[in-house]
Amino acid sequence: MHAEVNVYGNNIKIVIPVQFNKKATSESKEQYIETVQEYWSGRFGKYNVLTVVQEQSTGKRNRVILFKENGRSKVFLSFLVLIYNTGNKYIQKWTNAHESGHLMNLDDHYKDKGDLSYPEKGYENTIMGEAMGKVTETEIDEVIKRNNTKVTKDEIKEVVKKNDTKVTENIIKKVIKKGTK
Ligand SMILES: [Zn+2]
Repeated sequence: MHAEVNVYGNNIKIVIPVQFNKKATSESKEQYIETVQEYWSGRFGKYNVLTVVQEQSTGKRNRVILFKENGRSKVFLSFLVLIYNTGNKYIQKWTNAHESGHLMNLDDHYKDKGDLSYPEKGYENTIMGEAMGKVTETEIDEVIKRNNTKVTKDEIKEVVKKNDTKVTENIIKKVIKKGTK
């Protein structure tokens, strides 16, 4: 697990450092980064969340291996994630986002029965409980509990500035506007 979680009241900034495999195409890398940032950014109950996936080849980082082949994606030791092709654009996006939940130390909340998976009670339609599920306030609570680091308002602004990208620009503006009283 290498996710940096900055908490300022109900404004949360999550940075997920990753290194991709050499064979990963730039298209699949972009899709991974964009969908993880999309799924894990926005308003979740009381929280305003900004998530940034940061590519880096040194320091503490997660390894994300993107395969062209079909298969079932999985995570090892909360920092090595193998992502296989699902053959469906929407399932692929959800898979990227779900596996990234493990990088933030979240557990699965479904059970397999035969070929099918069923969400645990109370985890219906959530990102860790069910295919195509979404991030909710509960997941953000858990992410904070399991990765908590408190920082000052100035530090958050600095992190946001340093990690600014076009993809997240609008969300950053939103978070900063709503962010601080
Ligand atoms: Zn999982």
